[in-house]
Amino acid sequence: MSANVGKQYQDNLMAMCASGNHDVSKKYGVCGIICAVLLFPCGLICLFSDVEKRCVRCGAKV
Ligand SMILES: [Zn+2]
Repeated sequence: MSANVGKQYQDNLMAMCASGNHDVSKKYGVCGIICAVLLFPCGLICLFSDVEKRCVRCGAKV
């Protein structure tokens, strides 16, 4: 029974992803962070251009 509920829960989350309602999280690249530190404040431009948006549920790039 509990396994069934768990599957239903996952199905609901995947349905949200399938309809384009992803749970997006930003991840900064290592290069961007290093640039931001070394070339502060101009490196911040580098940091924000090296950002990767990914869905935490399905892992798809957004
Ligand atoms: Zn997703």
